[in-house]
Amino acid sequence: MFFRMNFIVLFILCLFALSCQITSHQVKPFFSDKGTGQIPLSPKPKPKHWVEFQVVKVADWETSLAGLLDLDDPKAKAAGLKDRQEPISIYFYLVKHPKFGTFMIDSGVGESFTKGKDALPISSIVESQMHFSKMQVYQTTKAYLHQNKIDVKGVFLTHLHLDHTLGASELDNSIPLYVGPGEVTSKYFINLFVQGSTNRLLGENPNLIQFDFGKDKDQITVLDFFGDESFYILSVPGHTPGSLAFFIPTKDGAHLVLGDTSHTSWGWKEGVTPGAFTSDHKLNRKSLDFLKGLENTHKLKFVYPGHQERISVSGK
Ligand SMILES: [Zn+2]
Repeated sequence: MFFRMNFIVLFILCLFALSCQITSHQVKPFFSDKGTGQIPLSPKPKPKHWVEFQVVKVADWETSLAGLLDLDDPKAKAAGLKDRQEPISIYFYLVKHPKFGTFMIDSGVGESFTKGKDALPISSIVESQMHFSKMQVYQTTKAYLHQNKIDVKGVFLTHLHLDHTLGASELDNSIPLYVGPGEVTSKYFINLFVQGSTNRLLGENPNLIQFDFGKDKDQITVLDFFGDESFYILSVPGHTPGSLAFFIPTKDGAHLVLGDTSHTSWGWKEGVTPGAFTSDHKLNRKSLDFLKGLENTHKLKFVYPGHQERISVSGK
């Protein structure tokens, strides 16, 4: 028994010692010159400017439903859901501010993902789990931005899971890549397997900037990024430590971008959290409940799950 205890303690110590950040690239803290800060999300924001918002679908793909949804949730059981391959898509979003220029949410997909298995900039162990070679890519980031003459001022990454960083290396490395509190600086054993691939996908010397809202890391917080009530960043930890969602007011209701706090349309409608792909289920629950609560307190137009079709919110 004593030896078994010792073995367990040693094993835990080893896991701890081998824990690492999701990327070894340098990260800087976020400073704002626009007087932004931690604020409540006003039920009726009155933006000084309105941003234009657009969603771009860049690829179709598939993955395990047990990763996307907690199949042990009573609602999933009642619906008879079983693990299977589920169709999903990859999106990025454009936020065009009349004064500060165009920003992206997530990074799309790079050209190397259109050239077959051998050209993938990820390790074979990651590919054996994620099957990026099965992705059908419609639009690469560099080509899209070039065709549409878009000069990107910054990219907000909903989180640093690989499928959200696939286009980052196609952007000039001076462009700020913003991530949520603790997203880079948290250490996990599992990162040992993905760090090299994440490093490559983020490109050489990326301009990584981590928000720190001066908060308890488990707290949900809101940042008025441009300081004019036109675009709110919501820190919604759980799926990953620094997961972000976005609330974008328009004249007839807001866009709510969920990131992977809910990957699926069904998960959002039923309030069922993600499954094995989420790192902290309890916190993901709290963050999803917070976002669902906005349906009752705020006028929403469309809700965008991380990997499926947007949902139209009517009757509000
Ligand atoms: Zn994802």
